[in-house]
Parts: sequence; structure tokens; C-alpha cells
Amino acid sequence: MSHLFQTYSRWNIEIKEAAGSWAIDTSGKKYLDFIQGIAVTNLGHNHPNVNQAIKKQLDQVWHVSNLFENGLQEKAAEKLVANSSGDLVFFCNSGAEANEGAIKLARKATGKTNIVTFLHSFHGRTYAGMAATGQDKIKTGFGPMLEGFHYLPYNDLEAISTCKVNDIAAVMLEVVQGEGGVNPAKAEFLQAVQAFCQKHQALLIIDEIQTGIGRTGEAFAYEHANLDPDIISVAKGLGNGFPVGAIIGKKALGEAFSPGSHGTTFGGNMLAMAAVNATLDLVFNNEFLSEVKEKGAYLLSKLQAVKQLNIVKEVRGKGLMAGIECYQPVGEYITALRKQGLLVLPAGPNVIRLLPPLNVETIEMDQAIEAIIHVLSNETVTV
Ligand SMILES: *Cc1c(COP(=O)(O)O)cnc(C)c1O
Repeated sequence: MSHLFQTYSRWNIEIKEAAGSWAIDTSGKKYLDFIQGIAVTNLGHNHPNVNQAIKKQLDQVWHVSNLFENGLQEKAAEKLVANSSGDLVFFCNSGAEANEGAIKLARKATGKTNIVTFLHSFHGRTYAGMAATGQDKIKTGFGPMLEGFHYLPYNDLEAISTCKVNDIAAVMLEVVQGEGGVNPAKAEFLQAVQAFCQKHQALLIIDEIQTGIGRTGEAFAYEHANLDPDIISVAKGLGNGFPVGAIIGKKALGEAFSPGSHGTTFGGNMLAMAAVNATLDLVFNNEFLSEVKEKGAYLLSKLQAVKQLNIVKEVRGKGLMAGIECYQPVGEYITALRKQGLLVLPAGPNVIRLLPPLNVETIEMDQAIEAIIHVLSNETVTV
């Protein structure tokens, strides 16, 4: 009997080794990994630069608490602000914690209460994260939610322009909804959200936990729409697999997060910072990001062939975050693809989500598409 809480319906395979785009299970079977820990190992598994940075730090010092100066945090923060609209960074340990802090920061800095978020969003599993999430299935059974959250339909300009909520501290959204089904926001919708924030003197919080750190071909996905967020939450790809998150905010918010106002024991731990610095040095590079854009465009163009299949309703995505929406539940196809040697995951019941590493090879994308076409048209092929 397993002594783990059964919070996950786990697949019956265990990965024992992985490198780059590939993972090997305990039986020796090899998989092309287009999950990458759910958009976490953006540089692929076992990246030598990140490994070396952690190994070097491992023998120096791991953890000293945030009572001390931390040059590694300063360096990592400098990289995040040089590549975003923000000026100040707070390091934490996960995505939910980053959103939790973002919501605290927005309320304290504005003195206002309400937070507007969107249907089908996903913002994490803590009480503030659940409250912010626009999906009832995440909240059921957990008692009273944190108050002050209001949900609007996503990509709906009309709903924004007629929104009657007052006393708004912030509007919070994903630029591409990840868990909600790989739904990219329309540019006009994002512009309307930015204008709404200006009109209400509300802060704009962009949840870049899944879309950030190069995933869409920019350092952060909001750049595609020229947004100017006040707060950005980051996690998943930030440490290429080492647990770490961050809140990035504008300078004017600095006063709200004064000494004693917010904190964490582990956040900004030196091993995490070694991983972040090594990861950002590779990802926040124009040449690297333009290759991600090219690879993303290639993947979406290849997916046009998948779109022709009878069961496929739509293909969509941004950069190397892609979704294949089918007319029916995709669980069985995901299992079949795994048997064929391709790891992909669902996003909602009907969408197959592809999250290859950002340095994926063209030939690997070709192999994945070939397997998908065969499985979705009920043939078989081995990757
Ligand atoms: C994964 C995710 C979160 C939650 O991050 P955790 O590290 O699992 O707490 C929040 N928002 C978005 C958009 C995510 O994809």
C-alpha cells in the first residue's frame, strides 16, 4: 500500500534518468518528454550549466536565512528586472506562494480589497491561489474562500467594459491560460485589461508562472502585447527544476513590502539562486529567445497537419506552449502516446498540451507530431 495521500492519479511509470528532451523509466523505456515537469525544465533535463552551478554552490553554503545579505539573490533579481517591467524582486519557493505574495502586495500597496480574475484561470492551491482561480473544481470542499475575488469571462471585451466591481486592488491574469486549456489571450482583450486597470487605478498582475522564462519566445509572455504589468509572478521554469518562485514588482510598490511585512524561511535559498542565475544566463539571451520563437512557429505550422484530423477541433499556442483541442476527452490518447514513447499532458478534458524544452531539436518536434498524427488517427508508430 502507498503511504502517500492519493492527491494525484499517477501514471504507472517511474522515471529514473533524464537528459535534454529525453527521459528513461525504470524498465529502460525511453520517452520524448514534451511535459518537462509541466513547463519546469525549460532547458531540458539535467542541463550541464545548471547542474554545475548547483554542484559548485553545494560545497560552499546552502542556506543562511534572509537575515543576511545575499549576493546571489541580488544578481538573480538584477536579471529579472533587466528583462521585465519591474524593479524589485521577492524570492519564494513556488508558484502558489508567488501569487499569494502578489495578492498581499496589491492589497497593501493600494489599500483596496477586490481582485478581478478570469474564468478557467489557474493560480495555485493555497487559499488565495484557489480564491483567485476561476474554476470551481479546485475549490470544492475546502470551506469558505478568501473574500473579494470576482471572475470575468476570459477574452471578453464586453465583460471588461461593463464590469461593475469597485474598490479594485488588482486585475490578475495569465496571458496564455495553461491549466485552463492553452488559451492565448487576444491582443485587444489584453489592451482592454490594461486600460481598465488605468481607469480604476488598479494594479495589473500577470501570472507568468507557466508562460514566463522564455516559454512563449519572449522572456515574459506579456511582452507580446506590450503590457506594462505592476506585478509579475514567476516560478516553474525559473530554476529549471529547482523549486523556486518570485514576485517582480514596480518600484512604487516597495513601501508596501517594508521590513516585517512579508517573508519566507527558504525563499531565495542559495542553491535555488545558483539554479536561477545559471538558468536566466541562458534563457534571457536574444539569440536564444529568437530561436524559441522560430521553434514555436515551426511547431504551430507542423500542427496544421494535426488540425486536419477528424477529431481535432482547433490547434493553438504561443511559442513552445501548444494545445490540440479535440471534440472528445483526450485521456486515452495521452495514454496511447505515452505507450508510443511521447510524454504529453492534458489541459482540461479535451486539450492535449505540448511543452517541449525550449532547446528542443526540430527532428524531435517532427517525431512528436508524427506520433500524434498516428495516434489521433488510430494508427501506431514508435517514437
Ligand atoms: C503551476 C501554476 C501555478 C501554481 O504553481 P505551483 O508552483 O504549483 O504552486 C500558478 N499559476 C499558474 C499559471 C501555473 O501554471
